[in-house]
Amino acid sequence: MPASEAPGPTIGPDGWLSAPACRLPSPNHGGAMRPALVVMHFTATTTRARAIDILTDPDRPEGRVSAHLVVDRDGRIDQLLPFTTIGWHAGISRWAGRTGLNACSVGIELVNAGPVTPAPGRDGWLADDGTALPPGCPVAESTHRLEPVPRRWEVFPLAQIAAARQIIGLLAATYPIETVLGHDLIAPDRKRDPGPLFPWPLPCPPAAIG
Ligand SMILES: [Zn+2]
Repeated sequence: MPASEAPGPTIGPDGWLSAPACRLPSPNHGGAMRPALVVMHFTATTTRARAIDILTDPDRPEGRVSAHLVVDRDGRIDQLLPFTTIGWHAGISRWAGRTGLNACSVGIELVNAGPVTPAPGRDGWLADDGTALPPGCPVAESTHRLEPVPRRWEVFPLAQIAAARQIIGLLAATYPIETVLGHDLIAPDRKRDPGPLFPWPLPCPPAAIG
């Protein structure tokens, strides 16, 4: 059935998406919040499974992290936290005079390796974690606006972007969402996601650095 004929998801009063999203609750979260922003990320992993492992790990040595949604390359959506619960995806962050944006933002992670390098001695590409990009995942060269030289980055498939757009529209219809931002906009000294290949603008265009 074409996506346009599929029943669209809805957001319940408990902050969880209806089907087709799968619920995989993460133990990594803060208290209640009222979402005002959406922050886009890439997972910097080559698989959905690895991303979910990280985002639900209560014992991660580098620190506990989470996000509200993980959107796979084919548009499959997993929800790890209700949208009205604080996730731990933004870290130290700042925008338009506000800091600590976890407290007011929905975090959406797109399964995407981010920057990749050629696999030594064979065809293919490696993510920063050393794992191989699945065969057939396109890569393109682009220069991040915060970097001086181009790198190669995994391309976001249309199905993934379409799924993210649909959910962002739903979020904006449900909560007083002001705008959609990139992690690299709110933490430019630390972060490069969702990177130069992310197809801005989304329904709410990103604003200038505040
Ligand atoms: Zn991020």
